[in-house]
Amino acid sequence: MQNLFFLQKKTLSIHKEGKGKNIMSKVKNVLLKVLGPLFLSESKVVSNERLSPHFQFLTIKGKSFKKSEWIPGQKIQVRLSDDIMRSYTPSSWDRQNGVVQTLVYMHGKGPGALWARDAKPGSKATILGPRGSLVLSEELKEVVFFGDETTFGLAYAIKENFKQLSVRCFFENTDLRESKPVLERFNLQDSTLYTLSQYDIIASDIARGYQSSTTSKIVLSGKQQSIVAIRQKLYTLGILPEDIIVKVYWGWKDDPNGKLKK
Ligand SMILES: Cc1cc2nc3c(=O)[nH]c(=O)nc-3n(C[C@H](O)[C@H](O)[C@H](O)COP(=O)(O)OP(=O)(O)OC[C@H]3O[C@@H](n4cnc5c(N)ncnc54)[C@H](O)[C@@H]3O)c2cc1C
Repeated sequence: MQNLFFLQKKTLSIHKEGKGKNIMSKVKNVLLKVLGPLFLSESKVVSNERLSPHFQFLTIKGKSFKKSEWIPGQKIQVRLSDDIMRSYTPSSWDRQNGVVQTLVYMHGKGPGALWARDAKPGSKATILGPRGSLVLSEELKEVVFFGDETTFGLAYAIKENFKQLSVRCFFENTDLRESKPVLERFNLQDSTLYTLSQYDIIASDIARGYQSSTTSKIVLSGKQQSIVAIRQKLYTLGILPEDIIVKVYWGWKDDPNGKLKK
């Protein structure tokens, strides 16, 4: 099992390889064990809905959620064992009732996917957060959003909560037939959909309708390798680095072409 924890901190730096990364990972595990209990909060899964073979929609309730100030785009981290945490994005955060919802895409049998698949109503969930992740300026009026199944919830949170924003979504999908009903459920049916690896077409579509200004941004989220490829193509189409916000959610660790460079 590959560990994606390193992706959850730095999204724009070149990842450290070998010894350095192992030490970083050990330090994180020690910090998690020592400091974790101070910041983690206990909550309960109240419902866990299977939307399709790979999508689970979890509703989690916790007292601490009533006190937290969540900004759409922020993440939570679920503690799955002493040294394993996984990040998920609240699609909604109801402070009054202390209820948080998150849409999980289960790509395989990693600890996060197994938790999402098996969490029963009434089961405990140990949560850290909300914590910083994607930050959008309040000045923004237009966002062009690219992502994948792991960022449907993020797109929904942005669209639902920033009503002043015009959000146009472009998603790459492993299985279009599986994604479509889920996107409809989350009011994202107007999105433009692609199968995997259509980077040039996606970049052209994004660039075509985009007007560079201080109130518009392109958000590239989801899979690291797709973000790298699309961003590269966007540059060749004249899009400026300052127009792009990157938020990596996952990636193939050993792909030498997938590294994000500053
Ligand atoms: C800030 C942040 C917010 C996130 N929010 C969400 C969210 O709301 N919903 C959501 O579904 N995910 C979200 N993710 C992504 C999720 O945390 C990762 O996909 C995580 O790796 C899942 O853990 P796992 O234990 O299931 O798999 P891991 O054990 O971490 O990975 C196992 C293997 O699967 C591969 N892999 C990981 N993710 C995918 C994928 N999506 N498709 C195909 N292969 C994959 C890995 O490269 C690895 O080889 C978020 C990530 C971050 C950083």
